[in-house]
Amino acid sequence: MNRTTQLRQKSMQMMGLLAGLAMLCLLNGCDTRWLYPSPKHPKTADARSSYSSLQNKDPLVNPSGTRPRNIILCIGDGMGINQVSLARDSEVGLNGRLWMETMPYTALVSTHNVSGNVTDSAEAITAILCGVKTSSSRLGMDPDGSILLTLPERLREEGYRIGVAVTSTISHATPAGTAAHVPSRKMEDRIAVQMFEAGFDVLFGGGKKYWLPSSQPGGSRTDGRDLVREARQAGWQIVKDKQEMDAVSSGRVIGLFQDDALTTLPPEPSLEEMTAAALRVLSSGPSSRPFFLMVEGSQIDWGCHQNEAAKAIRQTLLFDMAIRAALEFAIQDKHTLVIVTADHETGALTLSGGKNEPGHLKPNWASQGHSGGQVPLYAYGPGAQSFTGVMDNTEISKKITKLLGLDNFPRVEPQKQEAACFSLEEPVYAMIAE
Ligand SMILES: [Zn+2]
Repeated sequence: MNRTTQLRQKSMQMMGLLAGLAMLCLLNGCDTRWLYPSPKHPKTADARSSYSSLQNKDPLVNPSGTRPRNIILCIGDGMGINQVSLARDSEVGLNGRLWMETMPYTALVSTHNVSGNVTDSAEAITAILCGVKTSSSRLGMDPDGSILLTLPERLREEGYRIGVAVTSTISHATPAGTAAHVPSRKMEDRIAVQMFEAGFDVLFGGGKKYWLPSSQPGGSRTDGRDLVREARQAGWQIVKDKQEMDAVSSGRVIGLFQDDALTTLPPEPSLEEMTAAALRVLSSGPSSRPFFLMVEGSQIDWGCHQNEAAKAIRQTLLFDMAIRAALEFAIQDKHTLVIVTADHETGALTLSGGKNEPGHLKPNWASQGHSGGQVPLYAYGPGAQSFTGVMDNTEISKKITKLLGLDNFPRVEPQKQEAACFSLEEPVYAMIAE
């Protein structure tokens, strides 16, 4: 090959590269990112979903006191510090603040599991909610297969109302960590039964197919059970869309808004709207009953697995709007502790770039899997002072129970082991009636 031919080939390669880059710019410019509300491109008329008030937001002043009444735990799946920085830079600039960044107390949280540096969501949420490290893919079980009590289960013993609002299926690893006790997160049929039989007050998310028998449209259960019908008969209100969700103000409610995971697009309720609705329902009724709500921005992780920065940014901002709803409630209530953290980082994301102008941070991905770095934790409310410095993810639920004055946690539940592990056909727990 002579030099002229080599140069011609090189110039053809360069033109191909430039054409590819031009196509990328075109795609980015056509605004596929903001199909949910954004200040720049609002796609809904819902004022609550505007992001515009975040520029130059001041840090919140923590309310006095160290003993919270209610707990809101928000998990950004896959949300490392750089995911937060990237979303901040993109939306409000490096000098702005996301809502989670207005929270006055921060910590760094280790995420490793019992056997390795890098965790999966299942064992991470088990560590967070049960206070015990476990092995890969396990939910609510220690490495030996013993059943671990979850924080929501412990709080139910004290009369707490419990809620879950997520954008994945309700039986996905992180929400499942509130109530499931299974050796593998993949057992979503079984997890759905355990989530139902846990008797929680509010369940909002996707995954209806795991609640319906395969004989029904969209259903995939092979045991013939119709958990939606069973829940209705047991007294839950079943809502199928945002309008029905908004009409519920008290009692117990289940909203499964897709057969599988949520699309995070209208007309589905957004995570912010589900969070606000869950708080409205959970805080209704007799004032003697406090509540625990877990909110998950489930799909930050999915954008990061795909190394798609725009998806990761959008999902982080949707999660941040849900945090805003949580903070709005907590600011008014003054007795609610809000904790925001992640189960792990995804994508081994690093940031490079040039000018200090919004949108100039450049994402670089070193992995399509999870990474082993620490994740941030933000806290606001009575007791938030306990969440500073460097901590392990197993300390989160221990600190919460200590703040609430509850003993007997973490706790192994030997009597539940056989049913939960080995009897795949039978309901695990007796129905807990209100
Ligand atoms: Zn993941």
